[in-house]
Amino acid sequence: MTLAAPPLPRRPCIAVRIGSITVGGDAPIVVQSMTNTDTADAEATARQVAELAEAGSELVRMTVNTEEAAAAVPVIQERLATQNVTVPLIGDFHFNGHKLLSKHPACAELLDKYRINPGNVGRGRKKDEQFATIVEIACRHDKPVRIGVNWGSLDQELAVRLMDENARLPEPQPAGEVMHEAMILSALESARRAEEIGLGHSRIILSVKMSGVQDLIAVYRKLAARCDYPLHLGLTEAGMGSKGIVASTAALAVLLQEGIGDTIRISLTPEPGGDRRQEVIVAQEILQAMGLRSFTPQVTACPGCGRTTSDYFQRLAQDIQSYLREQMPVWRTRYPGVEEMKVAVMGCVVNGPGESKQAHIGISLPGTGEIPVAPVYVDGEKTVTLKGERIAAEFQQIVANYVAQRFEARG
Ligand code: SF4
Repeated sequence: MTLAAPPLPRRPCIAVRIGSITVGGDAPIVVQSMTNTDTADAEATARQVAELAEAGSELVRMTVNTEEAAAAVPVIQERLATQNVTVPLIGDFHFNGHKLLSKHPACAELLDKYRINPGNVGRGRKKDEQFATIVEIACRHDKPVRIGVNWGSLDQELAVRLMDENARLPEPQPAGEVMHEAMILSALESARRAEEIGLGHSRIILSVKMSGVQDLIAVYRKLAARCDYPLHLGLTEAGMGSKGIVASTAALAVLLQEGIGDTIRISLTPEPGGDRRQEVIVAQEILQAMGLRSFTPQVTACPGCGRTTSDYFQRLAQDIQSYLREQMPVWRTRYPGVEEMKVAVMGCVVNGPGESKQAHIGISLPGTGEIPVAPVYVDGEKTVTLKGERIAAEFQQIVANYVAQRFEARG
């Protein structure tokens, strides 16, 4: 049973509007993702943006790295509009953003936000000019900007300057501390410059992504204490599979628990041919597991043990989880509140009835040596006992009926 915990306090910050979405202020923590198609391939990119949005991504970023990619942005936007996909689009710019945004005004106009990496804007004098060009275009089109510092492309001039200053101190700081400060200063100085150029204070979001969990926690804590901009959280280059998921969760959970973070992205490396939507699902699951937001009904399932000699109960738990996730694009709008539903799928009589009674709907499957029947509990009461070959299908139907009756249908 989940006991009611008091809501976590959030770090106060300004609100930034991105298309139809608000980040920061009192807004819920926003899930975002990034495409990995060639942006110049408008059809493939529009398809992936639509898939990510359907999975629940509330902002979608795509790289805008070439003339062809910039020219594709209006085509992508148009294709999405014909499918009624309205998710705000973010353009990710490195090295040539000033040129692309200048030469492609439709791209500049149709994107809902620009992401600039201060380490990749340019070198020397050109850096300031090129940064100013992008910010001026953002001002002209009234677009918010994320100043996204990244450990792998930290502004080297700034890092060298801080290291030199540190070396001259009577008691120099450890190098790691100086690099953290370089990340934070890169973000804060860029934000100050952007405001001097004319970008509104409430048009700026900051991020300082690092690839080490402890580094990320340390640097975001410090940044959070030194500004009131909304913060985009993510462990950069998190990696593949369970490593990427665990590292991202470990880092983000600590910060979110402290109220730090207004939008998150999980930077997973997909398996070859893997599903890009996994990063959206992981982001949602982190927020839901922490009680910060609800996206999909949750399945409580026991781990199984020697009392479950077949994999029947694992398959039932997996089928129900997949079924609930597949229904959500429709249920989300049709049955408001359904995302709070809890379903239990338990392997035997030891904890099965108890856990099932605490869920909205639960099923306690028979363990080894038990009578081959599966009692179902609805709102804490045993309502029916299933048996035979069709337990899975019948249980799914009970769940569907419960949703239709319990949550008021819209539309
Ligand atoms: S509920 Fe039963 S099958 Fe599941 S872990 Fe506990 S004892 Fe094992």
